[in-house]
Amino acid sequence: MPRYEYRCRSCGDTFELSRPMAESSAPATCPSGHDDTVKLLSTVAVGGSASAPAPAPRAGGGCCGGGGCCG
Ligand SMILES: [Zn+2]
Repeated sequence: MPRYEYRCRSCGDTFELSRPMAESSAPATCPSGHDDTVKLLSTVAVGGSASAPAPAPRAGGGCCGGGGCCG
């Protein structure tokens, strides 16, 4: 059962509910009893797409590889 995240506009709390997809937009009540809540975008990540830049490969044995050519 998918989990949905909601945010209470009364107390600012965020909470998760597991409910059928058909009820994803149904009113949710926050743990403190408020019913003025909004559904947040799903944070469920399917197959993460990390786009961290890979470090550039450093050429070994180049000019500055310890040959003394760089001063
Ligand atoms: Zn609340």
